[in-house]
Amino acid sequence: MAQPLLCVRGLVKHFPVKKGLLQRTVGQVHAVDGISFDIAEGETLGLVGESGCGKSTAGKTILKLIDPTAGEIRIRGERIDALTRREMRAYRRQLQVVFQDPYSSLNPRLKVRDIIGEPLVNYAVSTGRELDQRVTELAIKVGLSAEALDRFPHEFSGGQRQRIGIARALALHPSLIICDEPVSALDVSVQAQVINLLGDLQREFGLSYLFVAHDLAVVEHISHRIAVMYLGKIVEIADKQALFTRPQHPYTEALLSAVPVPDPEASRKRIILRGDVPSPVTPPPGCRFHTRCPYAFDRCSKEEPEMREVVRGHHVACHLREAQTGANETATLPA
Ligand code: SF4
Repeated sequence: MAQPLLCVRGLVKHFPVKKGLLQRTVGQVHAVDGISFDIAEGETLGLVGESGCGKSTAGKTILKLIDPTAGEIRIRGERIDALTRREMRAYRRQLQVVFQDPYSSLNPRLKVRDIIGEPLVNYAVSTGRELDQRVTELAIKVGLSAEALDRFPHEFSGGQRQRIGIARALALHPSLIICDEPVSALDVSVQAQVINLLGDLQREFGLSYLFVAHDLAVVEHISHRIAVMYLGKIVEIADKQALFTRPQHPYTEALLSAVPVPDPEASRKRIILRGDVPSPVTPPPGCRFHTRCPYAFDRCSKEEPEMREVVRGHHVACHLREAQTGANETATLPA
């Protein structure tokens, strides 16, 4: 198998909980707790889960905007998790980000020209006329007009601002863009336009994406594979079609039941999960999902399920799968 572009192994990010006058550490927020996945060249991995499951923290840790607590992050085989900020500079060009909120991720005092050109100036890639030309090309590439370059971010709609953010992310010819809920703040019709734009750019430049979202419906069109996260752990990871047609984890099944079906004749039974997501400061023992899982049995609260490959390329962490399936067969979750 070809070397992946991004390889993440056992990535952990804990944040200390401090209390009192002396700010003593009294606990840890287990935001990301040992996640592993690869992203191939030109591939999109959707990373999905409810708010607070750790998916955005995972993205920020891979970007090294925050330092990991443990684990390995490799770009084309080179470890980057232990690099200093200075050493990271060479890799920053390969790793770019598009943030969730196009209203706050753009400097309101800069013209669009300066926002898109900022990375090119910071990395001394181009100056003068060459810089102007490159910035204009980037704006046109993302569907903005050349006239837009002399305006300020507040003069644009949410979708157009996200296009500005995408142009800025593209400026340094990255290999991987981490899209952190890039369409969550946009209207549904604009969401589709931005997702189509990201798809077109991927085909043209061979980009890879880690596409973080809380909604499976949003990642469906753009992802090749999807990883589902719950309370700091990846519970299932599979090819998009396999995940949508044969979900193997009860949490994925519940998330899928909330995805609208386009066919008015068809219907999907909605699974309402009981209770709230437990606190990441004191995650439940055993399977973290056992407090809400409709299929939980004795073993679930005592023993943490291991990630297993139930079908080629389809990995799931659930005791039920272990009990019901051999290594090479699929099963439907009990009704
Ligand atoms: Fe549910 Fe048990 Fe599977 Fe966890 S291990 S998802 S609690 S059946």
